[in-house]
Amino acid sequence: MHDMQAILDDIATKVTALPDRGKVATYIPQLACVDPDQFGMTVALPDGTVYSSGDAQTLFSIQSISKVFTLTIALGKLGDALWRRVGREPSGDPFNSIVQLEMEHGKPRNPFINAGAIAVVDAIMMGHQPKETIAEILQFVRFIADDNSICMDDRVAKSELLTGDRNASLAHFMASFGHFKNPVDFVLGTYFHQCSIAMSCEQLARAALFLVSDGLNTSNGTRVVSAQRARRINSLMMMCGHYDGSGEFAFRVGLPGKSGVGGGIMAVAPGKASIAVWSPGLDHVGNSKLGTIALEMLAERTGWSVFGH
Ligand code: GLU
Repeated sequence: MHDMQAILDDIATKVTALPDRGKVATYIPQLACVDPDQFGMTVALPDGTVYSSGDAQTLFSIQSISKVFTLTIALGKLGDALWRRVGREPSGDPFNSIVQLEMEHGKPRNPFINAGAIAVVDAIMMGHQPKETIAEILQFVRFIADDNSICMDDRVAKSELLTGDRNASLAHFMASFGHFKNPVDFVLGTYFHQCSIAMSCEQLARAALFLVSDGLNTSNGTRVVSAQRARRINSLMMMCGHYDGSGEFAFRVGLPGKSGVGGGIMAVAPGKASIAVWSPGLDHVGNSKLGTIALEMLAERTGWSVFGH
């Protein structure tokens, strides 16, 4: 048995002493206001016990981590029909790349690049108003995290809307292929709101518990998805969760994970624990610099990996 508290405290001490914390994302102005000097980490066990270190109760913008939650909702609504709208191959391209989309006729490579996540939002809207879909997404996140205090940060959503030309381009480009069923502006507004959900490491680790135990949150007995679906979501996180840094993350950490430009990473050690880590400074591909190092250290000390036991 590991002394998890001691491991986390030690990791926090070591990573926060590192001189290079990466760079905070600035293309969404509201994210540029975040103090880079923060680090938090939580490990949640299947029985609901959580161990935390550092700024694990501080709220941050989960950004692209929300794509795991909207994918889960979309699979619940559409099942395998979702894969007609979006692929499931790693992209090898930056998160907001438009190049591949043209060659592949407007069908995004996977649900975790921006184009794919925007297509997923179009799929789950099903003719509803943005505020209804936004409420549905928030409701789902509160349900899986077992925490009704979780909210969206309107300032972040507005900030991204004002500077979201690239995402708007991706959305209009996909719509030009006749793929969209809802007005592009509705889809984009909903997407920016889902990205603006604010959570702490503790809330995020709890929200990921259903992916640890084959779709069942064993801490409260709630079944969220089937075992097969949980495994498939984990496989997508492993292959595509870190954009063009996904191979590097699999190599260094060996666990499925999803990052966001707010500096958070949600990771899953199947059967063992869920992990959330946050530090706002990003590496050159947009993944949390200290967060990745911390997860690498945790995997090494616990022996958690999907590639061995
Ligand atoms: N809201 C961000 C965007 O669309 C999400 C990107 C990310 O977290 O990687 O640009």
